[in-house]
Amino acid sequence: MNALPGLRDGRLADRRLLETGRLARALAALNGEGEETRLVGGAVRDLALGEAVGDFDLATTARPEVVMKRARAAGFGVAPTGLAHGTVTLIIEGKPIEATTLRRDVDTDGRHAKVAFGRDFRDDALRRDFTINALSLTLDGIVHDYVGGLADLVDRRVRFIGEARLRIREDYLRILRFFRFSARYGDGRLDSAGFEAAIAEREGLAILSRERVRAELMKLFVAPRAPQTLAAIGEAGLLQPLVAGQTDWARLARLAAIEAASETAPDPLLRLGALCVRIEEDSERLRERLRLSNAEAERLAVVARGLADLHDGETPPGLGALRRLLFERHRQGALDALALFHADSGAPPNDWRFARARAFLSATPEPTLPITGADVVARGVTHGQRIGATLKKLQALWIRAGFPREPEALARLLDEALKP
Ligand code: ATP
Ligand code: MG
Repeated sequence: MNALPGLRDGRLADRRLLETGRLARALAALNGEGEETRLVGGAVRDLALGEAVGDFDLATTARPEVVMKRARAAGFGVAPTGLAHGTVTLIIEGKPIEATTLRRDVDTDGRHAKVAFGRDFRDDALRRDFTINALSLTLDGIVHDYVGGLADLVDRRVRFIGEARLRIREDYLRILRFFRFSARYGDGRLDSAGFEAAIAEREGLAILSRERVRAELMKLFVAPRAPQTLAAIGEAGLLQPLVAGQTDWARLARLAAIEAASETAPDPLLRLGALCVRIEEDSERLRERLRLSNAEAERLAVVARGLADLHDGETPPGLGALRRLLFERHRQGALDALALFHADSGAPPNDWRFARARAFLSATPEPTLPITGADVVARGVTHGQRIGATLKKLQALWIRAGFPREPEALARLLDEALKP
């Protein structure tokens, strides 16, 4: 029996990646003549699990100048993306692979590590955060494990390398990473040493950059065990300081169940909305706290507005309310608002009426007002401001009348809108 589907006798079962393709080319170029280069970090973990791999990260004994020289000679693109940290990005077949020269920590202040170059892969493993993230793979297919990462991967345990509190003090982001990797690779139980250390060191979260917090949270939100993990974080009092407001992890769990029932892929921003957005102002606060883009904050604001409309009506919303939602909030906003409304409603995740409402919002063309400024002008209105005001009034009447399209009905509505 092999508990790790990607491995056989401690070696990568499927060696094709090491024989042909981008990774094989990178390793070939950076190995030999006294240098050793390995695949490290998340890619080895995911390969061991037999899962698809996103990014390849390499660790190498070669100094950055040597990496660049060899990469150019092999015909790769080269971008000196993080030379200060010894990182060079190779562009092979149009996609990046990061190669980082081995280092040793000489000093840390909780946020940034000062580094010196080294040549020891064990040191490199020990500097990493969790045992499952500290594996490395050589060109011969052997997976090197200095910290018991493979056993933890089999047991689905996310454990800090070394003493959890000390490791957290070197970089407080590791608190969030602990939860993120537990939610993705764990079996549902948080490693108690890690969890206790995270709670004990929680004040360190305040010194982290908002961008880093945001990036980790967004990944955590869509992890398979996000609901349980966020509940644990929330109960431990760690969420409130991050988002600076009320959080409702039970609501996020209900949204996750609804997504699962409707086979909708989880969306990190909507999950953030489920966790923290009740009213429009919440989106502003989150924009600030988590450095959301304007588009992201606007999406959450639109959800809050749509949700407010839905909460004023029936459960589940009728066709009129759905049409209105679609018109006013557009398709994405309408679907987002419906999902959160469903989560708030107490209806079961697979409620057929909500499924039908979702199908309606997905398939119905967005209504557009069949009357334009030109129609208003044709009725003798010339003043720009008055044209705009009339259209606005007309739109409200049109929504209230249930989006009619017949010319007579529209003419009647226009008459009414034109009344002073
Ligand atoms: P993902 O698939 O989510 O990208 P990953 O394991 O590749 O997972 P990254 O955040 O891309 O995660 O980091 C790559 C590797 O670098 C990790 O596997 C880990 O070994 C190391 N690492 C990253 N951030 C830290 C950190 N803050 N402290 C210690 N090691 C880290
Ligand atoms: Mg990665």
